[in-house]
Amino acid sequence: MIHTPSLHHLEKDQLLQDFSALVDRDRRDTATMLAYVAEIDRRKLYLEHACPSMFAFCTKRFRMSEAIAAKRIRAGRAACRFPSILRMIGRGELHLSGVHQLAGHLTEDNHEEVLRRAKHKSMREIERLVAEISPKPDVPFSIRALPARQVQSATAAEESGSLEIEGKENLPAGTRPEEATPSRVCSPAARTAKPKSLATPLSPRRYKLQVTIGQEARDKLAELQELLSHQIPDGDAAAVIERALDALLAETKKKKAAVTNKPQATRKTNSKKTRMIPARVRREVFKRDEGRCAFVDAEGRRCSSAWQVEFHHRMPYARGGTHDMDNIELRCRAHNQYEAELEYGARFMATRRHSA
Ligand SMILES: [Zn+2]
Repeated sequence: MIHTPSLHHLEKDQLLQDFSALVDRDRRDTATMLAYVAEIDRRKLYLEHACPSMFAFCTKRFRMSEAIAAKRIRAGRAACRFPSILRMIGRGELHLSGVHQLAGHLTEDNHEEVLRRAKHKSMREIERLVAEISPKPDVPFSIRALPARQVQSATAAEESGSLEIEGKENLPAGTRPEEATPSRVCSPAARTAKPKSLATPLSPRRYKLQVTIGQEARDKLAELQELLSHQIPDGDAAAVIERALDALLAETKKKKAAVTNKPQATRKTNSKKTRMIPARVRREVFKRDEGRCAFVDAEGRRCSSAWQVEFHHRMPYARGGTHDMDNIELRCRAHNQYEAELEYGARFMATRRHSA
């Protein structure tokens, strides 16, 4: 019998300990599941249950989603050929989606090396690994009109239809935001979640970027192609976009972190009395924390997210915290809010103790 108890009464430590045990069990169960899928598939046992394929058996008889069924079957078949996959999944060294991604690229010759390199890698990293072992050619630049979408907020795009650009791009490794985890889609924070995927790796250091833009953006791109036609004679959209990204990056960094090539002499005009953190401090803190969240947990692991980073006062400004370098750190929005809640809670308790 399945029972889903309420967990509200559980202590934090118990909740986390149980979760850790569940994750371990889930990994072992996934490995076992793949072994069963592979064996039933190998014996074609689905046939005697009126299913033409293992896929139909999983989706129709066992009501698995199409995506999960496809992943399990593909991974199960790969594990049948290379049993070390099951051990890796059981130990949490490789996830199901990763095996699914790698399955078509594993051979007798390369599987040991590829699986070794895929250990503990994220989906993004595995996609890059696949792009390296099975490189695809760059996609040619193309731009085409799409029919206007039914529901669209941008009126300009509504009137004119949208345009889709495909082109090669050349982002240095490690500049892309990581992919949002699927669970974030249903979280209240979904609206501020990271973009799901930015670009698909084609081959090492080559990515396919596909976006839909409105008429105005298309006109700006065309204008830039003309203005830059001396420097970029073939009008390569990827080169133009890279220039635009450089310019926007410089501008945004300047605003965000007061990063500038010519720092102004520090003005000592009562910086203590304003909430505004002086540009010099923002610049230095941003540099010191490498533009990433500096939250560190009890075990010394740092968050390091570069998503929605904000300046954080270790000792809150409202409680007399200064704008000094050692009182300011970068936080992602989630950790900034988390610490604000901790702070609020602590103060609430202090007030209660005081009045008692
Ligand atoms: Zn963080």
